[in-house]
Amino acid sequence: MDLGIAGRRALVCAGSKGLGRGCAEALAREGVHVTITARGKEALEATAAAIRAAGGKIATVAGDITTPEGRAAALAACRDPDILINNAGGPPPGEFRDWTIEDWMKALNANMLTAIELIKATIDPMIARKWGRIVNITSGSVKAPIPILGLSNGARTGLTGFCAGLARQVAKDGISVNGLLPGPFDTDRLRSSMAFEAKKLGRPVEEVAKERAAHNPSRRFGTAEEFGAACAFLCSVHAGYITGQNLLMDGGAINSSI
Ligand code: NAP
Repeated sequence: MDLGIAGRRALVCAGSKGLGRGCAEALAREGVHVTITARGKEALEATAAAIRAAGGKIATVAGDITTPEGRAAALAACRDPDILINNAGGPPPGEFRDWTIEDWMKALNANMLTAIELIKATIDPMIARKWGRIVNITSGSVKAPIPILGLSNGARTGLTGFCAGLARQVAKDGISVNGLLPGPFDTDRLRSSMAFEAKKLGRPVEEVAKERAAHNPSRRFGTAEEFGAACAFLCSVHAGYITGQNLLMDGGAINSSI
């Protein structure tokens, strides 16, 4: 299927690895001119080189997307994108009694306000062009909260609530705003959280990973490629009538009828 977005411009935040990289690769494969951001230059350039080698058009911006300077640099490199993929690292797990206002402000900044600031900076030109796609990479925890990830549950649900209203405000302007909600995907983040768990339990990490995958109805973790393909579809010309939605990709892990 031709997604009809060749020549469009996309800003993919936190796109050097994992799910962001999956989105960048899938969009670049469709002929989209992609700009990726990340803090670490090495992985950023390695990802860009791989996308370029595959024939994609890609630019990079090194910086922390959760800071005003990082966002300014990203927007200077990719002025008025047609497609905005909001993503950043997730907050740490913990016990809610230990979290200070500073911990909350950090989580809200990274996983709610950063995305809202980027939307604010890019949406008016999208409205003027009568076309735009905004995809927020959030988490399955938006639908089924994970107690030890309370900072993530809170911040991501805040973004989801804001975008639910925004999507209805800008639908008439040809803009869709959706959430893409990962369950367990085989990325550095998942691997490091399993390594942490394995260490705590004093068990081999491969064993913990195998057990965790076996608990999923699909008996495996998702791949960044699958995630990217779904993201590219949400950004396609065919998905213009899908807005204000939260697409869960978790292999069926969350047990629910709708
Ligand atoms: P990952 O494999 O660890 O990749 C994270 C990417 O984000 C890297 O490119 C990283 O590069 C970049 N990044 C992190 N913080 C950044 C910042 N402040 N500014 C710019 N770039 C930043 O993680 P992932 O698994 O793809 O996860 C992506 C998001 O999905 C996270 O919010 C995560 O919590 C959420 N999620 C993931 C899963 C899963 O199973 N993988 C499940 C649910 C939710 P640098 O470190 O070099 O900046």
